[in-house]
Amino acid sequence: MKAKAVILASRPGADGEPRMENFKVQEQEVVEEPPEGHVVLKTIYLSVDPYMRCRMNEDPGTDYLSAWTVGGVAEGGGVGVVLSSRGEGLSPGDVVTSFSWPWQTHAVLPASGLQKLAPAWLAERPSLALGAVGMPGLTALLGLRTGGHIEPRGGQALVVSGAAGACGHLVGQIARLEGCSKVVGVCGSATKCRVLTAELGFDAAVDYRAEDLAGQLRSACPKGVDLYFDNVGGPLSDAVIEQMNVGGHVVLCGQISQYNKDVPYPPPLPLHTQTVLQERNISRDRFLVLNYPDKHAEGLQQLASWVQSGQLKVKETIMDGIENVGAAFVSMMQGGNIGKQLVLVSPL
Ligand code: NDP
Repeated sequence: MKAKAVILASRPGADGEPRMENFKVQEQEVVEEPPEGHVVLKTIYLSVDPYMRCRMNEDPGTDYLSAWTVGGVAEGGGVGVVLSSRGEGLSPGDVVTSFSWPWQTHAVLPASGLQKLAPAWLAERPSLALGAVGMPGLTALLGLRTGGHIEPRGGQALVVSGAAGACGHLVGQIARLEGCSKVVGVCGSATKCRVLTAELGFDAAVDYRAEDLAGQLRSACPKGVDLYFDNVGGPLSDAVIEQMNVGGHVVLCGQISQYNKDVPYPPPLPLHTQTVLQERNISRDRFLVLNYPDKHAEGLQQLASWVQSGQLKVKETIMDGIENVGAAFVSMMQGGNIGKQLVLVSPL
């Protein structure tokens, strides 16, 4: 059978913005009868995520990511439906997910690397398995639980950057559910700010592209910031840390403002920010969702139950068609998404 595949055509360079021309669509032959232990799949959704920017570099800069090869099919999180199976425990019609899903309309994968969506109702909304009830949801939940030090009824004020994105829009809502008394988002447009406050229950939202970020933050958190969930890094994060209280905590989740630059991860902080952290005894621990595999199953259950009960509201931005995966990735890196950026490859 003929499938369409998206390959990495060129690298943007360690110091450059990713462009649509870095990706190319080509035809690929996919067998209809899977080999022993494998299944043939039709892709439903593909996920585009910031970490993929590192995989576009020759040296991804971390030991837990490998570089995509030029001329090879790109891959990442995906969900799809089993068409035919010679893999244990999987039958045609099962909806499954994997972190290593090739950017293809159809694929043959080992059954051992696939998970059936759980709870079963997720098969009706498979996009959730790549967002709120998937890796971004776990990042928000476990990032807060491991590094947030939320004290229920402790009166803490939390700021999250990248607040309208896949992880960020969940961080604010979960922080509230876990006991923060004030939740403030920092994001890149007035429309995003409105979504956070009018639809997702954030107390305030700050547009970092508008004037006077420090002044906006001060009015949103007049008593200072206790917890900062940092998705962005750079001068934006320096401005938030400047307004943190003694004994506060920073969850170092991501530094997307630095991903198009040739700098190590995490990028070094300016001396002034280091001094603020030290003098005010503020913790700043690096968080990596992959480091907590034993907490994933319980975390996904919690997220699924919050989504089902309506306590956790989910935002998604969906582009159509395998030929648009590169465009969706580039758009997400530039802030084109509200909530999780996905690509619908083929309806269920
Ligand atoms: P998002 O859905 O948040 O998409 C990325 C967003 O980043 C864009 O929408 C854009 O929103 C914002 N952005 C891009 N460039 C800049 C910039 N220069 N300054 C400020 N904001 C910028 O992605 P995710 O939720 O998937 O990821 C968010 C962060 O979390 C990333 O840093 C990612 O690497 C990290 N992450 C970490 C994990 C971990 O285990 N540590 C796991 C998953 C994600 P805007 O319009 O606001 O600019």
